[in-house]
Amino acid sequence: MTELNGEKMQEEEASDSIQKIENLYPERKLPPEAIVTRVAPSPTGFAHLGFVYISLICKEISRNTNGVFIFRLEDTDQKREIKDSDTALLKALNVLDIKYDEGITLDGEEKGQYGPYRQTERVPIYNAYIRDLIEKGMAYYCFMTEEEIEEIRKEQKKNNIKPGIYGQYSKWRDATPEDIRKQLELGTPYVVRFKWPEKHEILNHKDLSGKEYFFDTEQYKEDFVLQKSNGIPTYHLAHLIDDYLMKVNLVVRGNEWISSLPKHIMLHKALGLKPPSYYHVPPIEILDPETKGRRKLSKRKDPEANIFNLLKDGFPKDGIKTYLLWISTSEYDRQTQIQNKPIIPDFKLDPSMLKSGAGSLLDINRLKNISREIIAQMSPEELSTNLLEWSKLYDLDFYNVISNSDKSYLQRCLETVNNPNRNRKDISKYTEIPEKIGFFYNEIYETLEYEISSIQNLPFETIEKIINDFLNRYKEDNTLEDFVNIMKSIGATNGLALNKEELEKTNALGLWSMVPAIIRIAITKRNISPDLYECIRILGTRELENRMNQLLNYLREKNG
Ligand code: GLU
Repeated sequence: MTELNGEKMQEEEASDSIQKIENLYPERKLPPEAIVTRVAPSPTGFAHLGFVYISLICKEISRNTNGVFIFRLEDTDQKREIKDSDTALLKALNVLDIKYDEGITLDGEEKGQYGPYRQTERVPIYNAYIRDLIEKGMAYYCFMTEEEIEEIRKEQKKNNIKPGIYGQYSKWRDATPEDIRKQLELGTPYVVRFKWPEKHEILNHKDLSGKEYFFDTEQYKEDFVLQKSNGIPTYHLAHLIDDYLMKVNLVVRGNEWISSLPKHIMLHKALGLKPPSYYHVPPIEILDPETKGRRKLSKRKDPEANIFNLLKDGFPKDGIKTYLLWISTSEYDRQTQIQNKPIIPDFKLDPSMLKSGAGSLLDINRLKNISREIIAQMSPEELSTNLLEWSKLYDLDFYNVISNSDKSYLQRCLETVNNPNRNRKDISKYTEIPEKIGFFYNEIYETLEYEISSIQNLPFETIEKIINDFLNRYKEDNTLEDFVNIMKSIGATNGLALNKEELEKTNALGLWSMVPAIIRIAITKRNISPDLYECIRILGTRELENRMNQLLNYLREKNG
């Protein structure tokens, strides 16, 4: 874009500048069905889930049609800009592995031939089009002051008239070229406004989701601002020129923009351009914890509105992505009514599936269910890699422990809680893992408190005897069957019943299941654990012995 020289362009006819600009943006060589789309966030806050949602929809649609997906930064509103917001947005796409073909990269570079992809770097381009509209009488300089505008607003309100600057309310709409020149020479601050045509018509728009809109131009009339007093264009003008030059043929954006669409249609007409297709995405909603009613996900109130909070909370990125794509479809609403449907959708996002109207509900429990299925499909190798990556960012203590020992050890530990072949799908978020497998690591085991409620009715001597018996009889090559038989037989020789009937008939101290309960508490300090046989095999007999003795010492001390 170095060929564009803003100052030089000021001196030539607007149409000549436009010609030069358009030569730099040739037609794309793509198959006819290819969708060229973009996500165009403004750097005004954290990486919102809605931004990820729209990015995913764009990515999927462009990918499915061998099209192009662009990341463009709409940074023309400098007042609302928040430092490092652009980095957060780029990081979010990067972490979630949502790849775009063109745009700004995380290291501040640009990729693609249709840039610059940062709007503040495109100001000379916008100016050429604005000048062209002025020259053609479709836009005008407006020197009205804030006070004058406020006066008009008040009068309109009083008389119950549609508010805004248009028609008779615009002091400069039909000013003579001399008057305008005079003000420009005086250096009076101005904005450039679109001259909303007098002609009354009904605009018809069909959104990609199939929803149809009719707009009465009379109701929407407004000489809206194209260029602000600081010389920077508004969103209305800038995005439209960018989409046109970048050959975007589908604009996917939040449905809060639908009310601005008449402006955009009118502006396309004035510029003699064909508008792209649009998909106005219904917002992500949430059940309000207090009112229990549905409402739009709130930037301020809902932590889950920030994608990094969901990642920190341990949801796998594929879980988040799958779930978001799933709720973007109307099929989701239908399927969630039906029980026992496969939970991971298998679909190619097709425009006919896109939702119109009602928002999509973010249901954390459903997100958890999808994530559980996704984690269950990960091989131990994949899960351990993902867990290391996640904990390095969000749980450094745990990361330090697990990264300190062998990765194959971590994989074996993980298999005890996540093994779809054995129907173990215990994990829906990475945050649940430290609690479940932490005991395998001595550094963590040492910090845990014993949960002994299930065995506290047994006399210490019995526990001691059971532990010693077990240590004498358990061998590393025991099969699962041997293991169970040993525990049963130890139960029987130590006054425990083999079943409920026997328990009722005799004065046994309890059931034989006290034996595994004791072993479980010794090795995990918990009443509940993954498969005990597997746990012992992973820990090894030396550690088994250590932990059994440690429990005995603990109980001995406790009993005084
Ligand atoms: N910059 C606009 C926003 O952040 C983007 C709208 C669009 O995609 O055109 O809402």
